[in-house]
Amino acid sequence: MAYLGSPSATKEVINKYSFAFQKKFGQNFLIDSNILENIVEAAEITKDDFVLEIGPGIGTMTQYLCEAARQVTAVEIDKMLIPILEDTLSEYDNVEVINQDVLKVDIKSLTNEKNVGRPIKVVANLPYYITTPIIMGLFESGVPIDSITIMVQKEVAERMQTGPGSKEYGALSLAVQYYADAKVMLNVSASCFMPRPNVDSAVIKLTRHKEPVVEVKDEKLMFRVIRASFNQRRKTLVNGLKNSAELDFSKEEIVSAIHHIGKEESIRGEKLTLEEFAKLSNYLYRG
Ligand code: SAM
Repeated sequence: MAYLGSPSATKEVINKYSFAFQKKFGQNFLIDSNILENIVEAAEITKDDFVLEIGPGIGTMTQYLCEAARQVTAVEIDKMLIPILEDTLSEYDNVEVINQDVLKVDIKSLTNEKNVGRPIKVVANLPYYITTPIIMGLFESGVPIDSITIMVQKEVAERMQTGPGSKEYGALSLAVQYYADAKVMLNVSASCFMPRPNVDSAVIKLTRHKEPVVEVKDEKLMFRVIRASFNQRRKTLVNGLKNSAELDFSKEEIVSAIHHIGKEESIRGEKLTLEEFAKLSNYLYRG
């Protein structure tokens, strides 16, 4: 039975191994069994599923995942946690722990090997500074993904869900919306972690679209256009695109593309929807 989701059980493990929390790895462990149950429920894990857990810590959520899933692979960067995980997960024979930086793991091969290329579910309570590279890496690498259920800083959850007009709207919002349907599943207060972080968190579920929601001729080009538009937030879209080192369109080409999507030359990038960015980049595409 999963037993780690309480302050006393976590303290016991920490003391037994004289474990020292590492700030650089963003180590804040969950200590609330309700939240853990809710995360696993939100991820809709069944006995058919292969789950990739990123950052298992001492194995608190991993225990819940092992009970719900067919197979779990947990990738943990901190080698000091490996003997602890061997101990806390010893009851389970459907889990493998990999001691690696997840950004260096070939998740596509892992998925092929463990789940014969079928879509996987990813569950993670991660340090917040690697949230964006991990999410983008998973989506862009072509790994078959069913969903990513992930704990993020509350503001990041808002950023992922928001649209034009909000000051939180940016490249991450557009990327997430391009690949997935984003839904905040629960809010998690700082008191549910040990040690307590300085920010409140939320669990967001990104369910990958089965079919693309917009038609894009060249994804890379669209994301370059998006990045260029938000790099210089206070500038107009024309200037943002013109000044980008990643793009080489003339002012005339850019203005003509903006008119093509029915906008004025003075528009700012932050006003465009995903669909408009798709149309804009399709127009700029040279084939
Ligand atoms: N899942 C556990 C829980 O909920 O209690 C631990 C969460 S803690 C916020 C984040 C975990 O991710 C830590 O165990 C940390 O060592 C690990 N981690 C940090 N960076 C990582 C990386 N690049 N690759 C894999 N694991 C990482």
